[in-house]
Amino acid sequence: MLLADRDPNRTVLVLTLGGTIAMTRTAASSGVAPTLTGADLVRAVPGLHSVATVTVEDFRQMPGASLAISDIVALVDRLKRAVSEGVDGIVVTQGTDTLEETAYLTDLYYPGSTPVVFTGAMRTAEAAGADGPANLLAAVQTAVSAQARGAGVLVVLGDEIHAARHVRKMHTTSPGAFGSPDIGPLGHVVEGAVRLHRALSVMAPVPLPTGALPQVEIVTASLDSSGTLLEGLENKVAGLVVAAFGAGHVPRTWCSRLEALAKAIPVVLASRIGTGPVLASTYAFPGSESDLLARGLISAGALDAYKARLLLTAHLAAGSPRYEIAEAFLHHP
Ligand code: ASP
Repeated sequence: MLLADRDPNRTVLVLTLGGTIAMTRTAASSGVAPTLTGADLVRAVPGLHSVATVTVEDFRQMPGASLAISDIVALVDRLKRAVSEGVDGIVVTQGTDTLEETAYLTDLYYPGSTPVVFTGAMRTAEAAGADGPANLLAAVQTAVSAQARGAGVLVVLGDEIHAARHVRKMHTTSPGAFGSPDIGPLGHVVEGAVRLHRALSVMAPVPLPTGALPQVEIVTASLDSSGTLLEGLENKVAGLVVAAFGAGHVPRTWCSRLEALAKAIPVVLASRIGTGPVLASTYAFPGSESDLLARGLISAGALDAYKARLLLTAHLAAGSPRYEIAEAFLHHP
């Protein structure tokens, strides 16, 4: 039998960053924009206060698309402070557009075992069947669960619990937009109780950046693409991720350019597919995975291009030498 975790003496900090969960129609335009405060979000959730004592803090008020890596660095500082203040769990609400990236970046940086759970909504707060309140409730239930302690940063939407390192937004509008296509959800919230089906190995945190953040970009392979976007990139960015075809392939016309780039900056080979790993030694044509790795590219392994970009950015920002960057990808759990 599942028993709901209910203890109003436990404390949860809800940090709001904006997103559809906080959006309503504004007088100024025909569309929606972030308007609701954290207090508004919490007020809309029936029964929340019997789960835990919730405090809210409006940390940012933005669409997901406008969040920056520096916002997440600041968020991680806030998380660490909250942990030292003795909070039992933390929930972050934000736009779903970038949630898979911000949650993963937080996972890379956050050293604590106090649960950190990201959530959002696919439907605005005013829409029929708004999913924000149910998602926030399930996120708080997860954040106070003993099972979530030390489980890494989690993402909860639609009563599914996902690992930040695996989750992806897979549909533009569906309330069931989030999934972990490689491994499935880590668990579920059922009748208010958290059930984790598996645990992942703990990731060693990457040190937070102290100086300016390095620019890392993604270039995607597409049929007969000229590769013109690769020209002169070594003078513009500190690192590059190639979102290659299939298991790690690019047009053969890209090969020499990528080889030259990989001598100047770290170039990571990921796939544009979004599920499944980049291969290492199956194909051997010019522009194949084995050819590109021999030319000095670093394999992203099973990380998709967006997450690979964040891992590369975090390591460049920490001043990691190239061999450590390669190791970080090789041993990524
Ligand atoms: N559609 C997005 C959301 O679900 C908008 C955003 O990311 O701010 O929140």
